[in-house]
Amino acid sequence: MTIGALRSRIFKGFLAHDEAQSLYERARDAARFGPCLEIGSYCGHSAAYLGLGCREAGGVLFSIDHHYGSEEQQPGQAYHDPELLDPETGRLNTFPLFRKTMRELSLENTVIPIVAASDIVARHWRTPLSLIFIDGGHTIQAVFTDYSSWISHLLPGGYLLIHDIFPEAAQGGQAPFCIYQLALASGLFIELPMIRTLATLKRAPVGCQTEESQKRWAHRGN
Ligand code: MG
Repeated sequence: MTIGALRSRIFKGFLAHDEAQSLYERARDAARFGPCLEIGSYCGHSAAYLGLGCREAGGVLFSIDHHYGSEEQQPGQAYHDPELLDPETGRLNTFPLFRKTMRELSLENTVIPIVAASDIVARHWRTPLSLIFIDGGHTIQAVFTDYSSWISHLLPGGYLLIHDIFPEAAQGGQAPFCIYQLALASGLFIELPMIRTLATLKRAPVGCQTEESQKRWAHRGN
């Protein structure tokens, strides 16, 4: 599977081509320094691009989702897809399609699903991460929980990516944008160019780093 072949595939999910391309490139750049993490797997659209980047770099992607769908995907809501309903439970279940997608793309040894709420996983997490992609629930509580639970695990020089950034309320929900503003105000990140609604921040070096590692970080540039 190459990036060209991936682009011709149809996915369920809400990700523009140039956003997907950027996820692939960031993962390919980051994954040699440590595992990447995605919060919000849904049916595997972004995991396919992040996963391909990880595989090319010899890394892995952990992808967290409870797979019951986020608020706006529940029955009666704007982004509900009845094909994803589990007839046995009557609830949404996106995990079967996620697994099928990873299997078809031969990414099962690169993309490691974690079926759980992200804050529960974070409480027990110990491995520094080279990239964190936040694209889970879109309420302020959900996005803030994902940000605050995971941000301490991001390596200096690592990427924080946040999807669905809408600076104007008329364009879309404001929770991811609020968290993006919070991250910027923290002074912990350098802002990289926005790709449509995909924000990219780079974790700045910390004071205890050696001069050598700071030079290496600076060399990585954008
Ligand atoms: Mg999204």
